[in-house]
Amino acid sequence: MLLGREDQKPIRIADKKVVEWKYTTCGYCSTGCSIEVGIDEEGKAVASRGVAGADVNRGKLCIKGIFEHELFEAAGRGDQPVLRDRFHHDFKDTSWDHALDTMADKIKAIQEQHGRDAFAVVSTGQLLTEEFYTLGKLVRGCIGTNNYCGNTTLCMASAVSGYKRSFGSDGPPGCYDDFSHTGCLIAWGSNLPEQHPVIYWRLKEAREKRHFPLIVVDPRVTMLAQFADIHLPITPGTDVVLQNALMHVILEEGLEDRAYIEQHTNDFDQLAACVKDYDPTTAAKICGINEDTIRHVARVFAKADSAMSIWTMGINQSTHGSDGVTGCNSLALLTGNIGKPGGTSLSITGQCNAMGTREWSSCSGLPGYRYLEKEQDRQEIADFWGIDPSFFPTKRGMAQTDIFPAIESGQIKGLWLVATNPMTSMPNTSRIRKTLEKLDFLVVQDAYQDVETTQYAHLYLPAAVWAEKEGCFTNTERRVNRVTNVLPPKGNSKPDFWIFNQLAKRFPNGNKIHFPDNTEGAFEEMKQLSKGTERTLDISGMSYAKIEQAKGIQWPCREGEDGMQGDARLYTDGFFQTPNGKANLIPLPFVDNNERPCSEYPFWLNSGRVVEHFHTRTRTGKLGNLNKYSPTPYMEMNPDAAAKLGIQHQSYVRLLSRRGDAVVMVQLTQRVAPNAVFIPFHFHDCVNRLSLGLLDPHSRQPAFKQSAVRIVPVDQTLAAKLNKQRRDF
Ligand code: SF4
Repeated sequence: MLLGREDQKPIRIADKKVVEWKYTTCGYCSTGCSIEVGIDEEGKAVASRGVAGADVNRGKLCIKGIFEHELFEAAGRGDQPVLRDRFHHDFKDTSWDHALDTMADKIKAIQEQHGRDAFAVVSTGQLLTEEFYTLGKLVRGCIGTNNYCGNTTLCMASAVSGYKRSFGSDGPPGCYDDFSHTGCLIAWGSNLPEQHPVIYWRLKEAREKRHFPLIVVDPRVTMLAQFADIHLPITPGTDVVLQNALMHVILEEGLEDRAYIEQHTNDFDQLAACVKDYDPTTAAKICGINEDTIRHVARVFAKADSAMSIWTMGINQSTHGSDGVTGCNSLALLTGNIGKPGGTSLSITGQCNAMGTREWSSCSGLPGYRYLEKEQDRQEIADFWGIDPSFFPTKRGMAQTDIFPAIESGQIKGLWLVATNPMTSMPNTSRIRKTLEKLDFLVVQDAYQDVETTQYAHLYLPAAVWAEKEGCFTNTERRVNRVTNVLPPKGNSKPDFWIFNQLAKRFPNGNKIHFPDNTEGAFEEMKQLSKGTERTLDISGMSYAKIEQAKGIQWPCREGEDGMQGDARLYTDGFFQTPNGKANLIPLPFVDNNERPCSEYPFWLNSGRVVEHFHTRTRTGKLGNLNKYSPTPYMEMNPDAAAKLGIQHQSYVRLLSRRGDAVVMVQLTQRVAPNAVFIPFHFHDCVNRLSLGLLDPHSRQPAFKQSAVRIVPVDQTLAAKLNKQRRDF
């Protein structure tokens, strides 16, 4: 018998006995959701909920946010510094003082013997912004190595590079509110429902209220592609060909915004000459999108009152990543779609604080979007920190992806990894393993001692995690939000901010430079450095109290502009950060330089994120429900291709590339083309054993998504055993 609604028992949510809800910002992706963590009578974190009054997420959280309180107690946390002796025996517990003394002594010894740049530092997008600023101060101002980078090179470097080339500065010009105004959206290699679920919800809600065309460019039929009006299943790595063809049609049919181009852009003639060669008929043969569709999409985009592009790794992780970003920017500039509601070119960033590292870490320059290459910028920071400007290099050193080859060649002898796990995240795992084994001294600083890279470390420093610390994150739309220390650090782990301050004291310049003893002090320094400059990055009108009250404020937010909640958009006046104030239109001749499928390795290998996991599963691999929903590495394969090779659904196969091999379970689906396979990138000893990762010449970002593989049978019993070991990890 069917029960009526009144007879049904309501679903009961278990009472977690929360006595206090504490405000913070989610520590996974760059959406920047405001979150409250519920604390019970015993002081334990027992629940998470979205904050209804926060503009970003309006009460929503995705599955990762919902279980985020569990990560405080997740397995594998480190709670004591550990050091190997000179014979490289097992780790032994040590005190913080001894650990940091040893680290400072080793760094100095390496630098004395091999030069300052022989010690390298690779950081992350996970720290708090104040921690990034302090790490930059320590590395640039005290240690003095120029080989300092962030793992954001694997993720957002192409966006940074493309923004700088087009607009003269980094900084995403748009915001989520643009979804509510746009007349057309092209998503380039961005699968929002899995990567940034709450941004997707904002987009979906906007389209439910007012339908506008959604065009998705992706070789795979992603979740977002399934909701699109038009899906363009592009040949991997050919985005700039499609972009050139769209611009060709726009110019051929006179759909460009002439007035905007004349007033606000440079080098139109060069761009126009380049795109002349990319007529839709020619382009279709390279990018795989038929010419009628190219013409149709160009018209829809250019004729909309406002139009926008968003993109993620499908553009960035390519040998043409930086060019692909400038292509999105040029499409916007040609059609006058920058700095107006619904008209923008918006990179959807990756990690929770990828923006914070771009703004303040000094990885690629000096704090607050300053350049090492500019004498005035070096002088300003040297004066502010109280050191000699000649201590700074005059141009940027190696990116992360160049640091590892330099270890291989013996140029770099020591490495400090902060919250990054290259044994899983870098392409070509076996090469990275050999590289790490070559180091004279490797320090791993992470909240989790069991990250794969720690196996190769001489010293491990246990860091506090996420909301055991105090500071700020900046999200995709330049919104600065507060992270508060919901719980104290576990055991004897310490906030990264404390670790940086303590290490600084062990270097001569550490006693000249002021290192505030709390993050609010560092934030006040950053405000001073951003104040009144011509740069867009101005946070001088913010304070911790104001940010908390507003639940996030976008920069620029200038001191003295009362009532300001920050600017929603950049470049509203059409003035850019270039020498003449005009944006650059950059020609993009296509060079086909990637590994491609061939008779020996006939499948394109693509990789990406699944909604349950974050990056190398350091956290989500240990959280019950997240790991339960996605416990095992798998490979999406087209059923027709599988039938030809006699491969069954849910059987195991071995993949081979020119770099190595990996064993995965097959999931048959029409989401991938017959000549392509897809594997989530989160799992250790999996897709990055196969990937090649050729580098973009501008951003040094690897082309994770364009490798070639072949598929061979494997012993099913052995493979199942291997898989179980991975699951139980
Ligand atoms: Fe956290 Fe991103 Fe999920 Fe929001 S969408 S809850 S920021 S992981």
